[in-house]
Amino acid sequence: MRLILLGPPGAGKGTQAEKIVADHRIVQLSTGDMLRAAVAAGTAVGQRAKAVMDRGELVSDEIVIDIIRDRLSKPDTSKGFILDGFPRTVAQAEALDKLLGTLKIPLDAIIELRVDDEVLLDRIKTRIKENPGSVRADDNPETLKKRLEVYHKQTAPVAAYYEKTKRLSKVDGMVSKDQVAAAIARTLKAKAKPERVR
Ligand code: AMP
Repeated sequence: MRLILLGPPGAGKGTQAEKIVADHRIVQLSTGDMLRAAVAAGTAVGQRAKAVMDRGELVSDEIVIDIIRDRLSKPDTSKGFILDGFPRTVAQAEALDKLLGTLKIPLDAIIELRVDDEVLLDRIKTRIKENPGSVRADDNPETLKKRLEVYHKQTAPVAAYYEKTKRLSKVDGMVSKDQVAAAIARTLKAKAKPERVR
């Protein structure tokens, strides 16, 4: 099973990805997590990315495409993977299509979690109130507004890119976590073709 989870920051991609990973025994490839690890490790990429991430802007296509190319060459991705937070620009989506084409590994599903901006802002405010210790540096209402702006400008066209070729499945992300998980499971089941060898 190979899939992309698209959706705005705070839509629940990470939470849903965790469940899909456990159910399908595949790996989660989160460019955000990989970049945060690079920042924590103080690598050259991490040093370049930190300020950009703190501002809620996007790291360069070149950096994230390199990270993903590298990650997809690791053997643990052979049973399947879920891309979380990538692609975030049309250029990244095009690069991914090219890369997967070269590697001859087609995607099974591209799922967009749809959540309205007001709901995302409410969610982040609740999270800060209920669990102030666990929020990330870029998880505050101000940076979220910036990240949402960036999302609408640069990442929403990615959903349109996949929709154009009828590859996009839309899931309502504004219902309970379990309901979202059930809707994703239904989508994946419908996409799974028994005759396809994985
Ligand atoms: P995330 O954890 O997916 O919300 O990502 C956190 C931050 O990492 C984003 O706000 C961006 O600054 C950066 N980032 C993660 N993935 C990408 C990507 N595919 N392209 C550009 N920047 C990214």
